[in-house]
Formats: sequence, structure tokens, C-alpha cells
Amino acid sequence: MKFINSLQFAKKMDHEDPLRSFRNLFLIPKAAGKTAIYFAGNSLGLQPKSTKKFISEELEDWATLGVEGHVQARRPWLYYHRFTKKALGKLVGAKPTEVVAMNHLTINLHLMMVSFYRPTKHRYKILTEAGAFSSDQYAFESHIRYLGMDPDKTIIEIRPRAGESTVRTADILGSIQEHAHDLALVVIGGVQYYTGQFFDIRKITQAGHAAGAYVGFDLAHAVGNVPLSLHKHEVDFAVWCSYKYLNSGPGAIAGVFVHARHATNFKLPRFAGWWGHDERNRFKMQKGFSPMEGADGWQLSNVPIFQSAAHLAALEIFEQTTMSVLRKKSLLLTGYLEFLLNEFDPEEQHYGIITPRNPAERGSQLSLLLKQHGRTIFESISRSGVISDWREPHVIRVAPVPLYNTFEEVFRFVGVVKKAILETKRTMRPV
Ligand SMILES: *Cc1c(COP(=O)(O)O)cnc(C)c1O
Repeated sequence: MKFINSLQFAKKMDHEDPLRSFRNLFLIPKAAGKTAIYFAGNSLGLQPKSTKKFISEELEDWATLGVEGHVQARRPWLYYHRFTKKALGKLVGAKPTEVVAMNHLTINLHLMMVSFYRPTKHRYKILTEAGAFSSDQYAFESHIRYLGMDPDKTIIEIRPRAGESTVRTADILGSIQEHAHDLALVVIGGVQYYTGQFFDIRKITQAGHAAGAYVGFDLAHAVGNVPLSLHKHEVDFAVWCSYKYLNSGPGAIAGVFVHARHATNFKLPRFAGWWGHDERNRFKMQKGFSPMEGADGWQLSNVPIFQSAAHLAALEIFEQTTMSVLRKKSLLLTGYLEFLLNEFDPEEQHYGIITPRNPAERGSQLSLLLKQHGRTIFESISRSGVISDWREPHVIRVAPVPLYNTFEEVFRFVGVVKKAILETKRTMRPV
């Protein structure tokens, strides 16, 4: 694709976009008194117009049916976790039985570690990326301490080489090999939240297994953003949240994937609750936990219906398209953003892009590292009606999302960035 730096070109791209009607399924926030350029879908996805209806229907069923809603609601509450499986399976490349929506991401990470982190005297290390999302770091550290071990002696962090901002796949694979004798678990973020790097899930999983470890992924920034094939790539488990690219609302219900080869491995230890118990006998309330097959057997509690209704509304939109169509547009949108940012600052005087330049190694997001006056520039951009995301010490993360963002927004955004930088430089002294 040959990009052109003009509003006319951006409008032409929008006109030819097979997904252009999808924007109208969402409510777009306002900023600075006008429709915002919303590039924060990596942080909180937008509200589908249909969400209100889905939640209202559950409120109505509760009002008119009370407890009978468990079986008589239009979407019976007892089976609610089943309704999201098909769409979730498609999004992560899994069988419906391999996925279930439940809890929140960090809780699910702990639950998966209970089953897949089984340290022994000689095999006890966890390999992860340096600078992983804070919650993941806290989960690893606290889980290790809970088992009576020392996080400093247990966690291996892979970091970028000096002068580089993302991790080389070869270095991850090399480190896995190097620790093959004592590695118990590999957990990497599918798409790194800060740099936007999309890791090579297939190669990392293969290397982890060759080393004799279990391999899991945190897909918070990957699900709904990049195509995934968890089943085919033989990933052991994955966890994600649903309020980012999955548009399921603040604090949305999260999800897990457990590979089919563990579906009937009831010897795996797990923390249990009644909702993971064989549903044919769940209400006999008898002694003796007997888990459901597949991911369902990791559920603890009954399903939060309002969150799940919002989740279902959002997933229905994904069901009207495919990840490959979304990915195609995403590559163009983010490619266009990169092109325009390069045109404005080819010598990287003002900012550098720390996200990988290879489109296969990133999702929608680009992370701009501002060289000077970062915070001031970010505030100026925000005052101009852009909603994006600031990360200390000087990174702006922007994610044009193929479901609801446009090429015209990308064009206008770079105009705003340009103006903000030039004005800030004029009014501030160099530091
Ligand atoms: C967003 C995000 C989380 C959030 O965790 P919650 O349990 O949903 O609050 C965790 N890990 C990563 C990598 C994230 O991007």
C-alpha cells in the first residue's frame, strides 16, 4: 500500500473500508466540546450501542422472574458462561470448550499458576519479560512467596539489549534454552502493554515445551487486537481481560484458555468452587469436588450476569466480522499512522517510535517516546480533543482500533501532534 499524506487520501481509505459501518455500532466520547479522536481502545474499549439493551434485558428478567430467571430468563443465568464461548474461541483460536469467561485477569493468572506452576526442588523458575504489567509482576512475586520461595531467585526477566526498546525473539528462545534444566513456567504478555510488541507465541511455546516447562500468555493487549491460534500453537493456558480491545466495559468479566490436552487431567491441582463442579451434580451439593471437563472446570463462582451481558453485546459485534478482516484494516490504520509520524519527524528529533517497525511484530498500538516536554505535549494534544494514554516517564500510547477508528482520525491526529509539538517548542526552553 502506497500511503499519501493528505486528507483526501484518508477519506478515500475510509470510503473503501469494508468495516466502515461498524463505527456506528459504538458510542464515541466527546472531548474539548467535540467528538473525540479516541485512540485509547487499548486501555478501555468503547461502549457498543447494544450494551444498554443487553443489560436492560437482564434487569427486566430479574424484575419479572426473580430467582426463576436462572432457568427462565431469555438467556438463562445458569448457563450464561456458555453463551460467550463460541465468539471467544474464535478470537483466541480455540475450541469453545477450551475457553471460559470468568473473574478478572489477575485472579485468573493466580488460578492458572495454581495448576501450571508446580515448582520442584530442581525445576522452579518462571521466565517472563522485564517490565511486565505491574499486576502480573505482583501476581508472580506474591504467588512465589505464598509457596515459601524467594522471587529474586525464581523469576528470570528477559530484557531488551542495550540501546534497544523491544526484546528479540532469539534472546527469549536463548534464555529458555539456557534455563532448560530449572525452568518450570514461561509467562509472556502476548502484546506487551508498554511497547506494543507482539511476541512470537508459536516459537516461545515450542521452546518452553522443549525445555520441559509449561507456557502461558497474558493476552490483555492481544485478544481482539491480533489473530491468535492458541490451540494450534499448543499454548498451555492464557488469561485476558475484556475491557480493552473487547469493549466489554470497565471492570468487565475476564477470560481463560486451557488447552484441550489438559481438559480431563483432573490430577492437575486447582482451586475449586461449585461452578467448576460437574454441572449434572452441581446442585446435589455433595461432598467431593468433581471438575467439569475443559476450561469450565476452573470456574469458582456463579456467573456475574450484568458484566456477562455487556460482554455478550460486545462479542456479538466481533461475530459480524473476523479477526483476519480486522487485522487487515488494523495493519493499514497503524501503518498509515506510522507513515504520517515519519513524514513529520523523519530524523526523530521530536519522538521515536519504540514499537517494532515490523507490522508482524505489533498490534494496533504505537508507543511514542517523546524526547522533550513529553507531559506538556500530551496535555496539549488532549486539549485538542484527542483521548490517548500517557505512561511515565515520557511515552504516549496510541491505538487506532479497526472496529471504530478511521483513517481520517489518524490524519487529524498527526496534525494535532504536529501543532502541539511546534507550539510547545516555541513556548518552552530546551531542557
Ligand atoms: C490491563 C492489564 C491487566 C489488568 O489486570 P486486571 O486484573 O484486569 O485488573 C493485567 N495485565 C496486563 C498485561 C494488562 O495489560
